[in-house]
Amino acid sequence: MEKLRYLKDVVTLALDAERCVGCGLCADVCPRGVLSLDNGRAAIIDRDACMECGACAMNCPAGAITVQSGVGCAAAVINSMLGRTGGDCCCVIEPGKSCPAADQNL
Ligand code: SF4
Ligand code: SF4
Repeated sequence: MEKLRYLKDVVTLALDAERCVGCGLCADVCPRGVLSLDNGRAAIIDRDACMECGACAMNCPAGAITVQSGVGCAAAVINSMLGRTGGDCCCVIEPGKSCPAADQNL
């Protein structure tokens, strides 16, 4: 999983640190280590590792995080698992093949 990254600088993740109350839930639920606590407030430490799953925003009690779920590779992975080969996602993994973005180490 460490090598699996989406396109650089396209992630929609946004953090309003002024609203953060420092609970740490976002860092706890993030499966990619994107967020961490820094001096009692959340910080984005690895933006391009974000797969836009939305877990951090859903669990933030302060509404400090926004992310447009499903734009990143999470949609491609789910589509592939469901056997889909097309649709709105620009990065659909065909059966028997790996993610092209991951192959190019993007
Ligand atoms: S959207 Fe998902 S991967 Fe991205 S920072 Fe939030 S929990 Fe982590
Ligand atoms: S879940 Fe929200 S309030 Fe809690 S640390 Fe993360 S950004 Fe701050």
